[in-house]
Amino acid sequence: MNIEKIRAQFPILNRKVNNKNLVYLDNAATSQKPLSVINAITNCYTKYYAAIHRGIHALSEESTAAYENVRSKIQQFINAKNAEEVIFVRGTTEAINLVASSFGKLKIKAGDEIVISAMEHHSNIIPWQILCEEKAAILKVIPISDEGEIDLDAYKKLFTEKTKLIAITHVSNVLGTINPLEQMTKIAHAQNIPVLVDGAQSIPHLTVNVQKLDCDFFVFSGHKIYAPTGIGILYGKKKWLEQMPPYQTGGGMINKVTFEKTEFAELPRKFEAGTPDVADAIALGAAIDYIEEIGMPNIIEHENKLLNYATEKLQQIPSLRIIGTAKEKVSVISFVLEDIHPHDVGTILDADGIAVRAGHHCAMPLMERLKLPATTRASFGIYNTFAEIDLLVEGIAKVRKIFA
Ligand code: PMP
Repeated sequence: MNIEKIRAQFPILNRKVNNKNLVYLDNAATSQKPLSVINAITNCYTKYYAAIHRGIHALSEESTAAYENVRSKIQQFINAKNAEEVIFVRGTTEAINLVASSFGKLKIKAGDEIVISAMEHHSNIIPWQILCEEKAAILKVIPISDEGEIDLDAYKKLFTEKTKLIAITHVSNVLGTINPLEQMTKIAHAQNIPVLVDGAQSIPHLTVNVQKLDCDFFVFSGHKIYAPTGIGILYGKKKWLEQMPPYQTGGGMINKVTFEKTEFAELPRKFEAGTPDVADAIALGAAIDYIEEIGMPNIIEHENKLLNYATEKLQQIPSLRIIGTAKEKVSVISFVLEDIHPHDVGTILDADGIAVRAGHHCAMPLMERLKLPATTRASFGIYNTFAEIDLLVEGIAKVRKIFA
């Protein structure tokens, strides 16, 4: 991988922050965008933008073809069996809310159980919590170890004949842990329990193969894989999506409407009510092209090197403790510095142009489990370098000096 060539594709990486070169280490929150993605949006709006699916004019036909082409691209990218199993949504949050609402209506009754884990993002907690409140169902939580790994024995013991769904993150946005999903899905399926995977943090760092994972739903956001905000994907097995009622209703998702009754459209349009986010979907396609051009195996190799280098360097800092030491991790590192609040760490690093995240990372129950109010998190993407990790380490030394 030619890092300089990659960095040259991301115009924002040239800017200064507080008169220092930007060191962007907040990739788990969102990624920066390459020129090809930015240009894809401009191209769409300057050359062929129109409302899709309905028009009979040239622009509509061109933008419909471009939009549907991205659906096929995503199908291949995650190895879904059918293109109609790929639904465009706004992002992970919307996808999980869709499944909670729609699958909830189809399958969840009083006394049923939904299983999540102790390391979930709020997006994969609250929709299930609310569904459970509405249906008088029960939310169960898979415990994790101090290292930040799923307790598989406890997981196996959580199921009863009332368990109707497992909703679990592929990768923790706080700990970086990669969960053993293939194994977990097998265990759940042995008892006919479907599995939803929150792929928000795995899609940028791992090769995702939904047929191999055999998950029933897989959801992710475009903005974490170098695509724009406002676009994301719900993958669902056809057998579920066909049975599930629409989440939103309105234009684009119907075959026939009378005042008495509506006949819904087939998949995938049943779940895509309203005028879709055409340009951002097309730009998501450009992001996939960009990733595939570099090659996922190369990205994984580079990010693993960054993870190992950063882990080694950070471990040498006295009073620094890495939070999340699972055996299988992606390039996301949370840490605490004894007695120094993560917000102070983040603010001092920002003065040197280093962007990290500090706080509860939308995972307050996990923070409670770890008995921490917050952590500082550095997360790496394709354009990060070893030199940037050195700058982070220098920045942390400065923080310690200020607080000494
Ligand atoms: N799940 C995880 C694990 C995440 O990291 C995030 C984003 N931080 C989300 C869900 C929510 O994604 P979005 O805000 O793009 O909907």
